[in-house]
Amino acid sequence: MKNYEKPVIITNDEIAEGVYAASGDCYTFTAEIKQKPEIGRGDYRIQVNGKHDAADNHHSSERTVQITFNMNVKYKNSLAQTVIGDGTSMLTLTYVDGVNGSYHNNGHENIGLGDLFVEADPGLAITGVSCTYCNHTCTYAGH
Ligand SMILES: [Zn+2]
Ligand SMILES: [Zn+2]
Repeated sequence: MKNYEKPVIITNDEIAEGVYAASGDCYTFTAEIKQKPEIGRGDYRIQVNGKHDAADNHHSSERTVQITFNMNVKYKNSLAQTVIGDGTSMLTLTYVDGVNGSYHNNGHENIGLGDLFVEADPGLAITGVSCTYCNHTCTYAGH
């Protein structure tokens, strides 16, 4: 892998400490709780966005974001194709172009990944967001 001009390279140790930053060589993801249950245990709505910033200008049609929480969550819904970690404090979501939406990215482009719904106890917080995979592949003819 090339040594890209990336200001922040984070290690697994830093992810465990809950740093919100990019990993891999291209995506920076954010996840923000936009709505929480009024009383007691219930559904949280979390907005997930990404910024693709590929130093070599590669395109992307599949990427994986890993979100960690301060407690276990029950996965309810999202636009991801696959979700790993239901019932734990870490969800790994993979979004694929053509599955639940148009998820192609140019080399430098923002992407909205829609809302993630989870059920959890009061006091849920996001402790980390990271990119664990980008397929570096374009699915569009002529790109
Ligand atoms: Zn990428
Ligand atoms: Zn493309």
